[in-house]
Amino acid sequence: MAKQHDVIVVGSGNAAMSAALAALERGASVLVIEKAGEDLAGGNTAYTAGAMRFVYEGNDDLVPLLADPGDPRLPRTDFGAYTAAQFESDLLGFNDGRPLSREQRILIDESAPALRWLSAQGVKFEPIYSRQSFEKDGRFVFWGGLTLATHDEGFGLARAELEALTRAGGEIRYNCPATGLIVEDGAVVGVETPDGPLRAKAVVLACGGFEANADMRTRYIGEGWDKARVRGTPHNQGDGLSMALALGAKAHGFFGGCHATPMDRQMPEYGNLDLPHGERKHYRKICYFLGVMLNAEGRRFVDEGKDFRNYTYAQFGRAIMEQPGHVAWQIFDAKVDHLLYSEYRFHDAHFVQADTLDGLLDELDGIDRAAARATLATFNAAVDADVPFDPTVRDGRGTRGLPLPKSNWAQAIDTGPFKAYPVTGGITFTYGGVEVGEAGGVRREDGGEIPGLFACGEMVGGVFFNGYPGGSGLTSGVVFGRRAGYGAAAAAGRG
Ligand SMILES: Cc1cc2nc3c(=O)[nH]c(=O)nc-3n(C[C@H](O)[C@H](O)[C@H](O)COP(=O)(O)OP(=O)(O)OC[C@H]3O[C@@H](n4cnc5c(N)ncnc54)[C@H](O)[C@@H]3O)c2cc1C
Repeated sequence: MAKQHDVIVVGSGNAAMSAALAALERGASVLVIEKAGEDLAGGNTAYTAGAMRFVYEGNDDLVPLLADPGDPRLPRTDFGAYTAAQFESDLLGFNDGRPLSREQRILIDESAPALRWLSAQGVKFEPIYSRQSFEKDGRFVFWGGLTLATHDEGFGLARAELEALTRAGGEIRYNCPATGLIVEDGAVVGVETPDGPLRAKAVVLACGGFEANADMRTRYIGEGWDKARVRGTPHNQGDGLSMALALGAKAHGFFGGCHATPMDRQMPEYGNLDLPHGERKHYRKICYFLGVMLNAEGRRFVDEGKDFRNYTYAQFGRAIMEQPGHVAWQIFDAKVDHLLYSEYRFHDAHFVQADTLDGLLDELDGIDRAAARATLATFNAAVDADVPFDPTVRDGRGTRGLPLPKSNWAQAIDTGPFKAYPVTGGITFTYGGVEVGEAGGVRREDGGEIPGLFACGEMVGGVFFNGYPGGSGLTSGVVFGRRAGYGAAAAAGRG
C-alpha cells in the first residue's frame, strides 16, 4: 500500500515551502507535489527579485538576517525604519476606502517574526542597494521601506527552501499536479493526481492564483485581460482555487484585482525560465517615474511621479492594459539615462533612440505623433524647475497647471539623445482567493472550516485589494504558509 503522509502540500513556491517547513518542524511527515518539472519548480517565487517587506526598527533588526554582515557598505547605509503604522498606511492606501482587513493585520504583525523564522530555516538576505537606494552625500539612502531581498533573489530563495525541506526530511515529487481533492465523510483526505490518489491526513493548497489562466482572467478581472502577458510561471492556472470553491470554500477578497506592471511590449507570453535567473525579470520596465508615459493617442494617462515606484508599479500595468491596444511608450532624456535600472540596458530590451524629440516620435509606430508632440511640449513647459530634483525623497518637483500632474521627479524632457521604450501590461499575480481561519484552514460560506483543507500564498484572499506595496507577496507567503503548515500538522495529530 502507498505510504500515507501526514501532510501533502500542493505547489513548491515560497508559500508551499513555508507550510512544508512549518509542518516538518512540528514533526509531521510531508510530501510536496509540484505540477511543473524540476526546471519550473518554485513557481512565481523563483522569478522574483526576492524582495520582502517587513516591519523593522533599524539596522540592528536587519544585520542578523544578512548573508554578509561584514559588507563594507553597511556603515555607509541608512536603512531608516519601517514601522507597523507605515505598513498599515501603505496597505490602506490601496484599499479604496476599505478598512484594514483581518489578513492585512496578520501580515503586518507577523512580518518580522516570519522573516526571522525563515532566516532560521537557512534563507539569508542582502540589502537591495541597486533598486531601493540612491547614493546621496556618500551614503546609501533607502527610500521605500523595502530594504532586503533573499540572497540570489527568488531563485536563491527557492533553492534555499528546497535545501531546508530536504534537510528536514520532507519529500518532493515533480510533474505531479493535483487534479482533485479526495473527500471522505466531509473531510479532505488526499489529492487525485494523474498517477493515482495520494492520501494524507491534511492537504495544504499552495498552488498560486489564476494569473496564467486567460479564461479566468477575463471572467474575474475583465475584458481584455486575456491579452495580458504573464510575468511568471504558466502553471498557476487557478487549480487550487477551482478545487476549493467546488468543495464549498468561501470566495474571499477582490477577484477583480491583480498585480500588473509595465513590461517590454516584446516580452514572451510567459516569463522565461530559459534565461539565466538574474535576467528573468528584465522585461519589467518600471522607471516611468523618471520620464513620462504616452499612450497611442499621444496622451499621458497616469501621474508617473505620484509616489515612489514601490507604490505605483503594481497598478500601472493595469493602467496600460486599459489604454488603446494595451500599449504605451516610456520616454526619457539623457539627464536620467544613468538612473534607469539595468533592465533598460538588458540585451533584449526594445527601445528606439534619436538625437531630437521630433526624431524620436517619428520612430514610434502606432502613436498619434502630433498629439504626442503637443503633450510633451505642454509637459515641458509645466515643470516647476525651481524645486531641486532628488530621487531619494518625494521631492515635490512637479508640474504646474496640468489637468493630470506629475507630482514628483518632473524634469523637462529636453536633452538628447532621447529614448522611448514600448511597454504593455504584464500580470504578476491575482488578489482574489479563499478565506482561511486562524490556523490556515479553508473556510466555508457558513464560517465553518473544511476539515483537512488548508491554504496559503496567492490563494489567500483579502490581503491585497486595488494595489500592492512592493515586496509584500513573498512575506504574505511566509506568514500564511507558516500558519497553514502548523495548522495542517495539528490536524494530522502532530505538534
Ligand atoms: C516576475 C515576478 C517578480 C516578483 N517579484 C516579487 C518580489 O520581489 N517580492 C515579492 O514579495 N513578490 C514578488 N512577486 C510576487 C510573488 O511571486 C508571489 O507573491 C509569490 O511567489 C507567491 O507565492 P506562492 O507560493 O503563493 O505561489 P508560487 O510561487 O507561484 O507557487 C505556486 C506553485 O504551485 C504550482 N502549481 C500550480 N498548480 C498546481 C497543481 N494543480 N498541482 C501542483 N502544483 C501546482 C506551480 O507550478 C507553482 O510552482 C513577483 C512575481 C513575479 C512573477
